Amino acid sequence: MDHVTLEPDDFAYGVVEDVVPGVQRIIAENPSKFTYRGTGTYIVGGHEVAVVDPGPRLDSHRDALAAALDGRTVRSVLVTHCHADHSPLASWLSAETGAPTYAFGPHAEAVDEWDIGSLPDDFGRAPEPTDGEGTADDAAGTEPPVEESTDLDFDPDARVRTDDVVFTGGGLEIRALHTPGHTSNHTCFSLSGTDAGRVLFTGDHVMGWSTTVVSPPDGDMGAYMDSLRMVAGRDDDVALPTHGAPIPDPSRYIGQLVEHRVERERQVLDAVRRGLSTIPEMVSELYAAVRVELHRPAGASVLGHLVKLVADGEVVTSSAGRPRFDSVFVPT
Ligand SMILES: [Zn+2]
Repeated sequence: MDHVTLEPDDFAYGVVEDVVPGVQRIIAENPSKFTYRGTGTYIVGGHEVAVVDPGPRLDSHRDALAAALDGRTVRSVLVTHCHADHSPLASWLSAETGAPTYAFGPHAEAVDEWDIGSLPDDFGRAPEPTDGEGTADDAAGTEPPVEESTDLDFDPDARVRTDDVVFTGGGLEIRALHTPGHTSNHTCFSLSGTDAGRVLFTGDHVMGWSTTVVSPPDGDMGAYMDSLRMVAGRDDDVALPTHGAPIPDPSRYIGQLVEHRVERERQVLDAVRRGLSTIPEMVSELYAAVRVELHRPAGASVLGHLVKLVADGEVVTSSAGRPRFDSVFVPT
């Protein structure tokens, strides 16, 4: 991909910044390998506003949001999906303001009935830091999670579907756009009526700084690629991700994301056909150039591709059961 949109170095936590006309953002101080600098919470409108992804349960972020919203009327609390860096402050903001929360729905618990197993304990562990090797941004010493944690308490006041209007005010309108893949309940929000043209809040569906983790069982690579192609086919002028800077010309950028996933899927299928049969073997080869601390989330993405390849009839598990982290994969 030829452009990754990083934050300027002079960004600051808890500060309201203007992003495009009619849209402001505050970044929460929850940086990690999944969140980049942290969660970007958007405030849309003037006196009457919608808030997109209120963010993690973090006192500093809650206080910064409260200060930014002082004197304004919150009409809608919009949540792209129920990961712990996006939705937890929604219930607080709704209680404070009386504004309803809008999202596709709560976490889809049915997916948890599919036991996906786990990677070997010693796979993808960071090596001990060596002299002079800075690992400060890797939160050295903490357990690297395979996936983002889920906010199981979240349940929106209104369950929205594509094209449902979730905010109007000051000439602006926001509609929902269901984009399953990163999670089954992931929803983007489409804003019209600003001088910036058509603006799409992409949550974690499209991120500005990295590719999205699509981690089974709730993450679905087939659905994700369909949702990417759908968004790439829209005529948006700018995409605003929850993590990372604004993305100009989103169709072109998202087209590159699709190509990247198609290429990765081809590499995974090729690896299986060459006799690599386990996820650790495939990750070690396909992600050889990537820091070992990222190999566990990479394993989740490879499992995501394998689930799709099994569904497509290109690969089977040797046990003929549903794919798991510890399955043995063979070509059909
Ligand atoms: Zn997420």
